[in-house]
Amino acid sequence: MSNKQSIQSIRGMSDLLPQDSSQYNSIKKIITDILISYGYEYIRTPLVEKTTVFHRAIGEVTDIVEKEMYSWQDGKENLSLRPEGTAGVVRAMIQSNLPREGVQKLFYHGAMFRHERPQKGRYRQFFQFGVEVFGVDNVKIDAELIAITARIWKTLGIDAILEINSLGSNVARDLYKVKLVEYFAENIELLDEDGKRRLKTNPLRILDSKNPDLTGLINSAPKLIDNLDDKSEQEFKDLLQYLDSINIKYKINPTLVRGLDYYNKTVFEWVSTELGAQGTICAGGRYDSLVEKMGGNPTPAIGFAIGMERLNLITTKDFKQEITSIYLIASSKQAQLKSSAICEQIIDSKLPLILYNDCSFASFKSQFKKADKKRTDYALIIGDFEVENFEVVIKPLKSRDEQITIKDTKLIDYLKQIL
Ligand code: ATP
Ligand code: MG
Repeated sequence: MSNKQSIQSIRGMSDLLPQDSSQYNSIKKIITDILISYGYEYIRTPLVEKTTVFHRAIGEVTDIVEKEMYSWQDGKENLSLRPEGTAGVVRAMIQSNLPREGVQKLFYHGAMFRHERPQKGRYRQFFQFGVEVFGVDNVKIDAELIAITARIWKTLGIDAILEINSLGSNVARDLYKVKLVEYFAENIELLDEDGKRRLKTNPLRILDSKNPDLTGLINSAPKLIDNLDDKSEQEFKDLLQYLDSINIKYKINPTLVRGLDYYNKTVFEWVSTELGAQGTICAGGRYDSLVEKMGGNPTPAIGFAIGMERLNLITTKDFKQEITSIYLIASSKQAQLKSSAICEQIIDSKLPLILYNDCSFASFKSQFKKADKKRTDYALIIGDFEVENFEVVIKPLKSRDEQITIKDTKLIDYLKQIL
């Protein structure tokens, strides 16, 4: 019996295979281009941070910190794989004193890690595209972030509903919490175990429960939106006015509180109906007190994160490669040398072409088979005769047109013509 057993990847952490990577990269490029056109800049932070970065930012009594983090002891330090991107970006921003240089509009893309139960749209390693803005305290920026996300969905052919709410100021939220605790305490027999626990630790999170048995109880609970401070209430109205002015439809969802602790005022989610319980493709909100809480100067902030796998599952845009492709076929050693030189020359020309330079030294027939398999538009063929005569043969593979012979010096002009 063979003792060669193949090694499998870790549950919930998957490969992005070549046949799927082109769609993923196209989506990533579309989002990047949109953000750059709005004046946003890329930031990259490490995949690993000190665990306290996440405890302080996300909050101790959250699903992520309580049960989803990958943490370990490294000498005297406790470290974690990042479960989300905001905490690291805030840490980096404070460390490099970026707000000194004015408003920061940043974006990131990368892997996040959460020890969750894997299912469609929910993984243990997943990728987020995120945006954070530091230094703007008025809702014009809230509207800009929502406009950016709406533009992304439109470009990708995605249908999603914007759910929006305001959590108010921290003071108003604390007053509301007292009311909420009173309400749930009066109905404690209707709460599940999780709810009873959260009543003591983080009552707002009960509103975020995914247990359908609690829906009635939650819907009748006092609403945050009816208990806002005057300033937050006015700002929320202003935000809705901005959204109206840029034609973005929304649904006010008074029970939307978000899973992370650091939010205040605006919170929003974009929900698709296509992924069942994993329907949220993007979530975000304001976190005006986080920078100070993490040791920086008080700095208003807002951000969102997009779940890239979920986006990838529901995108309807057709990304089929339309770029013309050429397979370089060569016979002898001399022909191989020439095909490499020709390949470099074509790439130098910066023409929008994909080139496959065969490296097999196999027979013409077998190289043609490979060109067919790649479904290239043309074969560029070099034999000894072509080497001696300073020419190449170009054969269309997708039409019945005749092959033609071209002098080396005329090749680039000819390629320009066929494009
Ligand atoms: P959920 O309620 O679905 O668990 P969340 O509130 O934990 O989401 P956030 O922390 O706000 O999610 O992350 C932002 C987005 O990242 C989500 O809306 C989702 O699209 C994506 N996301 C979160 N967790 C996962 C995961 N385990 N696998 C894939 N995507 C995820
Ligand atoms: Mg979650």
